[in-house]
Amino acid sequence: MSTGRLRNKVAIITGAGSGIGLESSILFAQEGANVLLVDINIQAAQRATEIIKRKYPDAKVIAIRADVGKEADVKAAVDTAIKEFGRLDIMFNNAGIMHPADDNALNTEEKIWDLTMQINAKGVWWGSKYAILAMRKNPTDESKGLHTGGSIINTASFVASMGAATPQLAYTASKGAVLAMTRELAMIHAREGIRLNTVSPGPLKTPLLMNFLDTPEKRDRRLVHLPMGRFGEAVEIAKAALFLASDESSYTTGTDLKVDGGLTSAYVTPI
Ligand code: NAD
Repeated sequence: MSTGRLRNKVAIITGAGSGIGLESSILFAQEGANVLLVDINIQAAQRATEIIKRKYPDAKVIAIRADVGKEADVKAAVDTAIKEFGRLDIMFNNAGIMHPADDNALNTEEKIWDLTMQINAKGVWWGSKYAILAMRKNPTDESKGLHTGGSIINTASFVASMGAATPQLAYTASKGAVLAMTRELAMIHAREGIRLNTVSPGPLKTPLLMNFLDTPEKRDRRLVHLPMGRFGEAVEIAKAALFLASDESSYTTGTDLKVDGGLTSAYVTPI
């Protein structure tokens, strides 16, 4: 049921075809936003718009293909949102990869490091850059609850804040970059009414992680460390992103919202 928390707002969500991006696209549309769904997999993004339109026939949602690892694609996505919907209030830089060949310092190849950084770190930089340029131009319309500025949400990870003995060096470094970059951008643009925050998910039941944890042993190696005793659901991250996207978080900037079932607070976990 919609409570109109994003009424009249325009949002871009990257990685919208699966997992967190898919659930966020559904939720943001439900809450009244016009949503541009961006994914490198256009079929997945189109399927997502069909799911949304079946649930909410009046929803204004458009799917486009873009690779967030290419600056021109990211700029084109922001241009499309402005052309189709007139402004940009919310940028959810969520797309990311975890490469199967990502390993420790000795085994990770430079090309895997570079690809991971290109998508996970540079993609977030470019998404933030073009969103900031667009949000600066937003006219204020008090009657519609629309203001200059906007909200940029960048998906980091619990591994940005804690170490894991099951290494994915490039991924971890890229998420550390997302965390540090977002905090600094939040300071630079605070007086412009542009808020930037990260959401740091714990391990989730999405294709990104479950394709990787493909045996009970690999899953149990992680589950024992989770205070709540389960993996998270993508929709639980989408709900946190909705808070950061909405005006309810109007005094929240430069923060990292951890949605991790208590993982980053754990010393020992319940048995
Ligand atoms: P997912 O694999 O289910 O979905 C990711 C989506 O991003 C896919 O639709 C994919 O096609 C798209 N994508 C991949 N590369 C892209 C690119 N270059 N340009 C545009 N789109 C691209 O993943 P998810 O679990 O929903 O992860 C979303 C974000 O959450 C990622 O940044 C990930 O690192 C982060 N995260 C996930 C977990 C987890 O356990 N799943 C934990 C912490 C952080």
